[in-house]
Amino acid sequence: MDDSDLKKLIAEDADVILHPASSISALLSNGPQMICAADGCMIEDAQGRRYLDAVGGLWCVNAGYGRAELAQAMKEAAEKLSYYHTFSNASNPWQVQLAEKLLSIAPAGLGKVFFGSGGSDANDTLIKIAWHYHALRGQHKKIKVIARQQAYHGTSVSTASLTGLGGFHKEFPLPLDFVLRVECPHFYTRALPGEDEAQFCERLIDEIRQLINTTGAENIAAFFAEPIHAAGGIIEPPAGYYQKLKALLAEHDILLVADEVVCGYGRLGSWFGSPLLGLEPDMMATAKGLTSGYFPMSAAFITNEVWQVLKQGSDKLGAFSHGYTYSGHPVGAAVALANIELLEREGLVDKARENGAYLHQRLHDVLDSNPYVGEIRGRGLLAGVQLVADKAQRRLPDAGDKWPLKVSNAVRELGVIVRPLPSVATLAISPPLTISCEQIDTLVMALQTAINQQLAPLSEV
Ligand code: PMP
Repeated sequence: MDDSDLKKLIAEDADVILHPASSISALLSNGPQMICAADGCMIEDAQGRRYLDAVGGLWCVNAGYGRAELAQAMKEAAEKLSYYHTFSNASNPWQVQLAEKLLSIAPAGLGKVFFGSGGSDANDTLIKIAWHYHALRGQHKKIKVIARQQAYHGTSVSTASLTGLGGFHKEFPLPLDFVLRVECPHFYTRALPGEDEAQFCERLIDEIRQLINTTGAENIAAFFAEPIHAAGGIIEPPAGYYQKLKALLAEHDILLVADEVVCGYGRLGSWFGSPLLGLEPDMMATAKGLTSGYFPMSAAFITNEVWQVLKQGSDKLGAFSHGYTYSGHPVGAAVALANIELLEREGLVDKARENGAYLHQRLHDVLDSNPYVGEIRGRGLLAGVQLVADKAQRRLPDAGDKWPLKVSNAVRELGVIVRPLPSVATLAISPPLTISCEQIDTLVMALQTAINQQLAPLSEV
């Protein structure tokens, strides 16, 4: 495609496309950011400018861009079996191989996999499985689902309801009333004055206990939790939270669902976030890093105990009536398998842990003393940099001042992409797991320069 074709397409974009999660007025005034190529950790726009993509697309390009072996795996599968469905017990060799591989690395206890096309449908599937599971055991009223403030579980009608970020509900009749909301487990922004981390944790668990008591456990099906909240601010709960949560939920026959859509497949320096954080899931949603973004695919996991109940239901009722046209897609399964093998072969999960430690060390070295940086958090190659207007008081900047957007725009001018999370004034980092220490240095220096450029002058006026 030559330059004039590209210019024409850039001009035509706003005439024909409704962009996801985007400002229409910004598109009309600035046009799209047209990305035409990518390799390793770098993306390239239509003007030929290259950027270090320290977000890995949307937290998904774990293996890095442009991996020839992943393209080859898709080509081979597409040539052999471009598509066939998996309804009515149709299958294909790729999905079976993939499921076997995934179960060999999944957290203990998970025994069966359901394939879909993305994170929202994986969570949607697990909401329905939770309802179905309880109904089959005679608990037809177990319908409510608990989710936390600042959670992100997707944008379908049901999963946007679980999502605890107000922006995803505005002017939609959401959240639906099957959702019960509890506190975000972020000590830095949510602790009461004088409260220590253990007391904070106790308060959170007490709140959930009270909610269960007032709602009635007989009305509650499941609790959804990202091991570390991603889009809601890179937030890790206090120590012991998940162990206490699991015990409480088990006591009340409420399923614990881990949403590992971001944390899964090496992001935190372990295959999954749940074992790292002491979260023992009854079910688990994954997507994104499953294929490193090369194919839209999700994998939702359930324990054999849950499966046994579904099996008995199927014996009585007939089919398990849920599924998608692209469930178990052979091309997606082939590239997912090649991707997992690549992560293994290149030791990228260990590398995420080691280079993640380097990333966090560099962020602390360079930004700890910055008056506008309140907290640096996360694990492995998932990090959040909290911006604060008043460091001593832990006061966040006013949303209207748009600090995260200003800083991320300035970082972009320096050739690096980070993600602004406006609801918590945080900058998110989740690069491909292949990122080098030199690239980490470039990223950290760009962040420092942009924060100083954008925020220091504010205190001088
Ligand atoms: N869960 C989490 C934790 C996510 O971060 C996302 C997407 N960012 C989703 C679910 C939804 O995934 P998708 O956009 O593929 O539907």
